[in-house]
Amino acid sequence: MKIPLRVTCKQAASLLIAREDREIALSEKVALRLHIYACKACPNFEQQILIMRKSLKLWRNYSVEGKDAD
Ligand SMILES: [Zn+2]
Repeated sequence: MKIPLRVTCKQAASLLIAREDREIALSEKVALRLHIYACKACPNFEQQILIMRKSLKLWRNYSVEGKDAD
């Protein structure tokens, strides 16, 4: 199997961030997956992004509800 595109950690990180804002291209997704599979550091960064996304979603929901518990 031929790897279509190699990305650096920096590029992988910017793709992970870009993915939160826009739909990234299939080739970018593939390159990102391959990188995360092969890299030691980037899976941790992806986890952090996913946690951040979850809490952001929660926070947004709270803001929409618009009321404090107390
Ligand atoms: Zn990496």
